[in-house]
Amino acid sequence: MDEFDLIRRFFTSVGACRPDVCIGIGDDAAVVQVPPGKQLVIATDTLVEDVHFPASMPAHAVGYRALAVNLSDLAAMGAEPAWASLGLTVPDDEAGWLEGFAGGFSELASRFDVALIGGDTTRGPRCMTVTVHGLCEPGKAVLRSGAQPGDTVCVTGSLGKGGAGLRAFSESGPADPLAHEFLYPEPRIVAGRALARLASAMIDVSDGLLADLGHILEASSVGAHVDVAALPIDAAVCTRFGADTAQDLALGGGDDYELCCCIPARNLHEAMTAVAGAGSTLSRIGEITAAEGLVCADAEGRTMTPAHRGYRHFE
Ligand code: ADP
Ligand code: MG
Repeated sequence: MDEFDLIRRFFTSVGACRPDVCIGIGDDAAVVQVPPGKQLVIATDTLVEDVHFPASMPAHAVGYRALAVNLSDLAAMGAEPAWASLGLTVPDDEAGWLEGFAGGFSELASRFDVALIGGDTTRGPRCMTVTVHGLCEPGKAVLRSGAQPGDTVCVTGSLGKGGAGLRAFSESGPADPLAHEFLYPEPRIVAGRALARLASAMIDVSDGLLADLGHILEASSVGAHVDVAALPIDAAVCTRFGADTAQDLALGGGDDYELCCCIPARNLHEAMTAVAGAGSTLSRIGEITAAEGLVCADAEGRTMTPAHRGYRHFE
């Protein structure tokens, strides 16, 4: 099977079929019709084997994840996904692995009406770069830089399950229910769309809540007070690893792919309702302050310093 057979066999009918794809896979480049009056929102993420996912991870979950982490970035901008391209490097003619990978990618792409419109395929150590293209109303993408003192800091869903899920997967494999949270994170596209006109700033929680909220604070030149007792720590993670570890994972574990957003007081009630309507929950976890810096307080209001603040490459 050469490169062209491989592309034909595994990647020509992946994801949704969209009428706005004028030229898809097969020519030198893809051509898409951007709807008039919309802005294009573009995100890219690379996954390297044994850095971003363990080599033992099922191919189906790798394919799903390669797209999910990118959709999560579009969600954090409040954008609606449309198209994706895939740069894929694999060690050999791995038909079984490729079939699983394309299946996982395609399943998620179909669910969010994303068409795979092109890519590149090469041989080498396994890694993949996905670029997603989404749409938003002009000037309405939600940035990291819009947080204002007095805004409520909120987070969707629950925290700690990404980090705990990786541990569960390493300990007992893919059938572990908690491992599923790491293998198949749900990109919060629908919640992100609902929050687009209500949030002053937003980011997805990929490196750990404190690290990612820190990016909002830096970009907005503000600080925050976080009430650790108010964190929506995942109940299954508490049961499995205990409350202290669960709290550490919720603050710094990463891989949760929830949305952390800042909501002005006038929009708070509507944001709660809108996210519930999007099938998720929105928890208030703190407040933006004019004084810079991120302060965490425990249930008694005592200032605390968390053990881990998130993942950084090259550190
Ligand atoms: P070129 O030599 O012009 O770069 P390629 O042979 O790399 O063309 O690709 C042929 C076609 O297949 C192009 O339309 C390209 O976008 C698409 N393609 C290649 N690899 C992938 C992939 N992994 N997923 C989706 N489309 C791909
Ligand atoms: Mg090429």
